[in-house]
Amino acid sequence: MEEPLQKTRETRKTDAEWRQVLTPEQYRIMRQKGTEGAFTGQYWNNKDEGVYRCTGCGTPLFSSETKFDSGSGWPSFYAPLEQHNVEVEQDTSFGMSRTEVLCANCEAHLGHVFDDGPRDKTGLRYCINSASLAFDPDADDSSP
Ligand SMILES: [Zn+2]
Repeated sequence: MEEPLQKTRETRKTDAEWRQVLTPEQYRIMRQKGTEGAFTGQYWNNKDEGVYRCTGCGTPLFSSETKFDSGSGWPSFYAPLEQHNVEVEQDTSFGMSRTEVLCANCEAHLGHVFDDGPRDKTGLRYCINSASLAFDPDADDSSP
């Protein structure tokens, strides 16, 4: 189910274009590195099977298979669907040192990754804003 991503950045939009395609909340989070309130997002408690795509460009980012209940109030995953579909960057805003997670294709801010994830898996916790994700319940893992 490898889905190679062409890193051509064709989906790069101008700021004005992003404002048109995203809701104000999505824009605040994805383009201005905002954070939605805990337990307010659409997917923190979603347990359905499927793929979480980038709201900005549709790139498949996370799978329900790696989603776990972190109790944080944000959708949490212990691994991305494909490592190359996400990028990480050091974020020192707000006086904290955190690792930011971005969509590798459109550079949307997704959330942060922490090292307090499940010890029996990767040990990582990708803490992602629901607003950055578009759940795709129809994705069938058995199809090519
Ligand atoms: Zn994207």
